[in-house]
Amino acid sequence: MRWENLTQSAEHGRADAALFGADAVTSRTFDTPEFAGITFHEIRARSIINRVPAVSRMSFQWTVNPYRGCSHACVYCFARKTHSYLDLDTGLGFDSQIVVKTNAPELLRHQLGSRRWQGEHIAMGTNVDCYQRAEGRYRLMPGIIGALTDHANPFSILTKGTLILRDLDLLKRAHEVTDVGISVSVGFTDPDLWRTVEPGTPAPERRLDVVRTLSEHGIGCGVLMAPVIPFLSDEPAQLRATVRAIAAAGATSVTPLVLHLRPGAREWFMSWLDRHHPYLVRRYERLYADGSYAPKWYQRRITRQVHELAREYGIGPADPGMPRRLPEPEPEAVAPDLPGGTQLTLL
Ligand code: SF4
Repeated sequence: MRWENLTQSAEHGRADAALFGADAVTSRTFDTPEFAGITFHEIRARSIINRVPAVSRMSFQWTVNPYRGCSHACVYCFARKTHSYLDLDTGLGFDSQIVVKTNAPELLRHQLGSRRWQGEHIAMGTNVDCYQRAEGRYRLMPGIIGALTDHANPFSILTKGTLILRDLDLLKRAHEVTDVGISVSVGFTDPDLWRTVEPGTPAPERRLDVVRTLSEHGIGCGVLMAPVIPFLSDEPAQLRATVRAIAAAGATSVTPLVLHLRPGAREWFMSWLDRHHPYLVRRYERLYADGSYAPKWYQRRITRQVHELAREYGIGPADPGMPRRLPEPEPEAVAPDLPGGTQLTLL
C-alpha cells in the first residue's frame, strides 16, 4: 500500500487529509484462521458522519462507515472501486486489505453532540459491511450503536453479517428510544452459487436466521434481495425458493435488486464468470452492453416476479409511505466516503 500517497494527498489538501493523519496508520495481521491473509490498517479518522452527494438518488443523506474493504469478498461488490481511491487493489486487495477507523465510536459520539448536528437518520452498511469479520475483533459497532442510542438518533443497518446478533440487546435498547431499521441482504439461496460468488459471507440460511431472530425480538427486519444474478439465480423456481425462504424467516419486506456491474466490480466479476461459467460471458456482454445496469425490461421483469411472489407468500416491498431503509441504485459518479462530501454503494 502506498501510504505515502495519503501523506501527499494531505499535503495537497485533498479529502484524504480529512480522513487519514499522515502518521496515523498501523498495519496488523492476526495469526488466527479467521483472519488468515488479511491485513488491517488501523487509522484514526478525523470525521465519521459522511454526507451523501446531492446528485445521488440514495434514500438517505448521512452515513457512517467504520471500515473500508470487506472480507465478505462478494465478487460483484460495487464498493470495490472505493479501494482504488486509497491506491489499493480493487480485487483481492479489497477482500484482504481492510481499513479500520478505530476511533469511530468516540468520534461519532462527539459529532452527534455537536450543535450543528440535526439528529437526522444515519445509514450504515451502505458502503461496506459493518458486521464483516473484522468487527468480531475490533468491536466498533457496540460503541456506535451506544452513541446513537444515547442521542436517540434514528439509524439503519444493512448487513450480510450474522455478527449483528451479538449486538441484539443493544439494538433492542436503541429500538426503544429511536427509529431503527435493519435489513439483511440475501439475493439467492443456492449454496453452490453462494460458495463461489460470496465466499466470505455467512450462508444465506444463517442470514435468514438473523431475520428470524430479530423479528422474534420485536425488531422488524427487511430483506434486500440483492443481487439477483442474471442466468444464475433468476429462474422462476430460484426466485420462488428465495422469496419463500425470506417469507418463512419473517421478513417485513423484500426488495429485489438486479446485479449491476460498475467499473471496479465489473472486471472482477467478469473474470470470475469466465472461470466458473464461461458459457455465460457472451450473454453478459450483451446484457450489460449499455453500461453498468441490466436493461430496464429485465429489471422490471425481476421486480414484478419478486413482488408477485412476495404477495403470494404474504410479504411485500417496503411501504412507500414509510421512510425507505434500503439503498437504491445510484448514478455512476462516486467518491470515497470522506468528510465534506461523499458516499457510495450498497451491499
Ligand atoms: S457486497 Fe457487502 S458484504 Fe459483500 S463484499 Fe461488498 S460490502 Fe461486503
